[in-house]
Amino acid sequence: MGRRLDLTGQKFGKLTAVERAGTRYSGAGKYKGGQAVTMWRCICDCGNEKIVRGDSLRCGKTQSCGCICRSKEHIQRAVEGRRKWLAEQKAKA
Ligand SMILES: [Zn+2]
Repeated sequence: MGRRLDLTGQKFGKLTAVERAGTRYSGAGKYKGGQAVTMWRCICDCGNEKIVRGDSLRCGKTQSCGCICRSKEHIQRAVEGRRKWLAEQKAKA
């Protein structure tokens, strides 16, 4: 059939591809041998919207609007907080 890859409705991590958002050229640009990349408009589980490169979706490089990274930060902070608390408890004992 030779059709282009259609990611519509597919889910990648927290992102669901809803429609094509045009083409961008990676690297040097359109006239300098840059590679054409299809961009996709995606809706994240958290409700945010994000335009993502199709290849980044397929290879798993981009899996959220950025909220995954933010939640990782939260987890890190919680871990640090607990470590601090444990150290305090140890100091008391
Ligand atoms: Zn999100």
